[in-house]
Amino acid sequence: MNLPKLNTPTYFLTIPSTKKKVKYRPFLVKEEKIMMLVKESKNQVEIIEVMKDVVKACTFDKLDPNKLSTFDIEYIFLQLRSKSVGEKIEINMKCVNEVDHIEDDGITKTSKPCGGIIPFDIDISKIRVKTPKEHTNNIILDDDIGITFKYPSVNNIYDEENVDDIEIIVDLIESIFDKDNVYEASETKREELVEFVENITQKQFIKIKKGFFDTMPSLEHTIKYKCSDCGYQGEHTFRGISDFF
Ligand SMILES: [Zn+2]
Repeated sequence: MNLPKLNTPTYFLTIPSTKKKVKYRPFLVKEEKIMMLVKESKNQVEIIEVMKDVVKACTFDKLDPNKLSTFDIEYIFLQLRSKSVGEKIEINMKCVNEVDHIEDDGITKTSKPCGGIIPFDIDISKIRVKTPKEHTNNIILDDDIGITFKYPSVNNIYDEENVDDIEIIVDLIESIFDKDNVYEASETKREELVEFVENITQKQFIKIKKGFFDTMPSLEHTIKYKCSDCGYQGEHTFRGISDFF
């Protein structure tokens, strides 16, 4: 006799970058085990691979995680977590307020961070992908010539140090446009794209950096806190998935 099958509840979420709705289910016990590994791992590549697998399985293979932007995956992942483990994440923060500290000799005064522990809960349903007002995918370089960028996927992670790398800019070009035409990057030779990017002036490059890279959408959540040790009141903004683990 076959055992009865358990019904898994399903929900819908909206993908931040495309605004498309997708059906999903919570993690199951088998995936939860993998998640524990992720929590303990420091290996960024491993974490991303697991996140991709779980996102794919929990959206019934309808999403290709390789085509999603990093912030999409992070957002979807948090939604999965909220329906699987719970909507609250408990975080212990350390107070960073500088307070006077008397050294062992009883005379010397120094200042050091208070270090008081501030526990609080973050409600996952309140975490959104925020896009700064000045952010755009379309950067006009010269009169009518410009670049339309696509978001970095989890497969082309860059950091602030290598953002001026020509290869990274080329990777993220969706198309180049002028008054009359749109030139799709997928239909253009890579050498030509590299040559195009090599001829960008410093001023135009800053425009790209400010308009697209520095203002990239990200998971964001700001909390206000008060330290019970020193009374300091402050604000803290969490950004990106690693801040929520
Ligand atoms: Zn404090």
